[in-house]
Amino acid sequence: MSSVAADLHTHTDYSDGTESPERVVELAAAAGVQAISLTDHDNVEALAVAAPTAKRVGVELIPGIEMSSSLRGAEVHLLGFLLDVAHPGLTAHLTEQQARRVRRVHTTVERLAAVGVRIPAEEVLALAGHGTVGRPHVARILLKHGFVKDTPEAFERYLTPGRPGFMPGSTMEPARIIAIIRAAGGVPVLAHPVYLKDDTIIDACVAAGLAGLEVFHSGHTPDHVRHYEAIADRLGLLKTGGSDYHGTSKEGVGIGVVKVPYTLVEAMRQWQARHPATAAS
Ligand code: AMP
Ligand code: ZN
Ligand code: FE
Ligand code: FE
Repeated sequence: MSSVAADLHTHTDYSDGTESPERVVELAAAAGVQAISLTDHDNVEALAVAAPTAKRVGVELIPGIEMSSSLRGAEVHLLGFLLDVAHPGLTAHLTEQQARRVRRVHTTVERLAAVGVRIPAEEVLALAGHGTVGRPHVARILLKHGFVKDTPEAFERYLTPGRPGFMPGSTMEPARIIAIIRAAGGVPVLAHPVYLKDDTIIDACVAAGLAGLEVFHSGHTPDHVRHYEAIADRLGLLKTGGSDYHGTSKEGVGIGVVKVPYTLVEAMRQWQARHPATAAS
């Protein structure tokens, strides 16, 4: 059915979204989204948690993840779709990333303390709870302690490059992440390319085995969509899209604000059938 709508980029409270996997799936059904991918940062646990609810409300779950990397100083996010979430290479990578992220919280808290901004690392880690901890959790604790009036201000004043609490994220190159996704039988897609401000990163990812580009995203204007659609066509890349829903931690972005036709999911499956899982690297 070509009228089926999909939202292929959402976050739950297994990373920096504010809603549970069950709630995200219920909201998707209410928004008329029939297929959804829960693409938490460096975490795949929401998939199994959401599965019974998805079955009950009749929403198809597309296995997914969003993974961090960096290239030439730019933060590069890669989406992996239809992957084997139990693949040992993937699991090992995610375990490493969780440990790195906890160390990063402690360093961030120390850097903030050095400029007189004192927040307990334990509160940041407790807020993330069972999920992947990240800068949005630090931002929410800064807000709770009255250091900022909202979370965008927390990023602007403290958590972005050049600011006192900034600590870089993953130093892994996109090529390494693409290899991990492909070893797990997945389809690697470059997320929200507009945030990169450098289209040569797309070429570097293509050289490393990228399959698709997130052409449709809540941060893309119609001009951006046309721009990245043309690039995807020129490079023979799959196109994907999604809202990048984060619950109340990203105001104004509801589930399904970006909906794509299910034919894009079918195109990913066809790509996957032509590109069986590579040997683990
Ligand atoms: P992390 O993976 O810990 O580096 O956190 C990255 C996440 O922080 C992104 O996926 C966004 O959800 C959020 N984020 C990044 N930059 C900003 C910003 N300037 N304002 C608000 N949220 C941001
Ligand atoms: Zn996020
Ligand atoms: Fe992202
Ligand atoms: Fe995201």
